Amino acid sequence: MIHRWWSRWWSRWKAHSIASRGAEWPSPWGDVFGEKTDPLRPTRYVIIGNGVAGFEAARKIRESDRQAEVIMISRESELHWSRPALMYLYMGELTLEEATPYPKRWFAEKRLILLQREVGRVDRAERQLYFTDSSRLSYDLLLVALGSEPRTLDIPGEELDGVMGLYDLQDLAHLEEISDRIGRAVIIGGGLVAVEWAEMLVHRGVSVEILMKDPLFAAHLFPQEEAQMITDYLIQTGISIQGNVEVQEVTVDQRANAELKLALHLREREALLVDLVGVAIGVKPAVHRVEGLEELSRDGLRVDERLQSADPHVFAAGDCAELITGTAHLKRGRVSGTWYEARQMGRVAGLSMVRYAHKQNPAGAMDGFTLDEIYNPIASEWFNSAKFLDIEHQLYGEVPSSVEPNTDLLSLYWSDLANRQSIRITYKEGKVVGLCTLGIRLRQSQCERIIRERYSVDQILESLDLLRFDEEFDDTLLRAKESLKSQFQADYP
Ligand SMILES: Cc1cc2nc3c(=O)[nH]c(=O)nc-3n(C[C@H](O)[C@H](O)[C@H](O)COP(=O)(O)OP(=O)(O)OC[C@H]3O[C@@H](n4cnc5c(N)ncnc54)[C@H](O)[C@@H]3O)c2cc1C
Repeated sequence: MIHRWWSRWWSRWKAHSIASRGAEWPSPWGDVFGEKTDPLRPTRYVIIGNGVAGFEAARKIRESDRQAEVIMISRESELHWSRPALMYLYMGELTLEEATPYPKRWFAEKRLILLQREVGRVDRAERQLYFTDSSRLSYDLLLVALGSEPRTLDIPGEELDGVMGLYDLQDLAHLEEISDRIGRAVIIGGGLVAVEWAEMLVHRGVSVEILMKDPLFAAHLFPQEEAQMITDYLIQTGISIQGNVEVQEVTVDQRANAELKLALHLREREALLVDLVGVAIGVKPAVHRVEGLEELSRDGLRVDERLQSADPHVFAAGDCAELITGTAHLKRGRVSGTWYEARQMGRVAGLSMVRYAHKQNPAGAMDGFTLDEIYNPIASEWFNSAKFLDIEHQLYGEVPSSVEPNTDLLSLYWSDLANRQSIRITYKEGKVVGLCTLGIRLRQSQCERIIRERYSVDQILESLDLLRFDEEFDDTLLRAKESLKSQFQADYP
């Protein structure tokens, strides 16, 4: 019965054109204000953001609550796309369509409503969103999945054309627009986006220089040996790298040939004349983009392990969330910035919202609902992967870039510099807590199990070669094994 009603309403809804809507989003139930009084009215879940966190949440909500009204809003694009693919779009190796995992038809089949609009304000008291065009939308439960935005240098001249960050499709479109006039570029930053940007520009024949404040590239991500290997490799590929640099100002330089160029002024170094200053010094949660969330936010939107904020109708997931665990409410929480973590948070947030709605509305549909899902990045086996040009990188568990003295975390390291390969195993009290590789691809499921089940170092070293993803073609880990074994015997006799 409900189902028949629902499909009738859905077809009617689809027939509406978004542009023709009045000020308030139409619902068969009228305005969705206050607590739900009708237990049969579907819960209206509104998600701001269609990145991986928002998308996964929407999917989980639909799997767990068949009647729910799920509305996903994005300023950037109508359909969810894979942000880590951005560089491949610029290099022509993927089209936007190929980087869009689900077509519009899929969302229609799942009855996930998509809105491409910018949210300007949330009125939490009335549970309404206001779009920047002044139209509004009410919600029962809200997921804030706004992602992050590039950090800025906060130096004079940062507003000049040709000084930019790289995050979304709009940045990509602007970069494309000015690409014809870029002959020489400077990228400021020593992380993943900086190297991706360098690769993108080199691919178009641009001469690229990377400037960073650390002495080595990726020094904040890796222990010194790995950071040195990556730095040496980037230099070998022709990318110029300068460490210990402090940028001071960007000005417009009028050259003799009347062409406009940017002059990047550096402390105690000669200014550089370039066509593009790429700013890749990290990201910060984009929560301040939407008014009305200030009271819930500090670095990001503060949430507990259920990804629920101090306002029980507001949840957050992905890069914009700040996770506060235990009783540490006064402390700074954990803000993540990786795709895998955003995906996991989205899944947990979706389930958690359905759980909360169910408490309010026990008559709601609850298929596929699990009661024990909470988000705990420390307990879950942390995984990330990336590429530094041709060097693949995988990270499992805990491998910090530097270890405080007197800590119980120890590590074993093996490298083959000629082939740009390395593996590091971190351990505590003889049990493996982390694995980090460059140039070696490991089997993800086995590595996650090793960390989760706290395998002993002895166990891992004995069967190390079996962890290799394509072990039949390569003896790298066999070669690493003997060296790692003798290090372990010396460290932990
Ligand atoms: C170039 C690049 C490469 C990357 N590569 C990797 C990688 O290799 N590995 C990795 O782990 N991570 C990588 N990341 C990071 C990863 O992409 C992010 O951690 C992840 O996408 C975060 O997902 P999210 O859903 O939290 O936010 P996002 O993907 O940022 O999505 C945020 C959404 O919110 C919407 N939004 C924001 N403000 C508003 C508003 N006011 N109104 C309406 N909608 C709004 C946006 O339109 C967008 O849809 C990369 C990031 C970049 C920029």
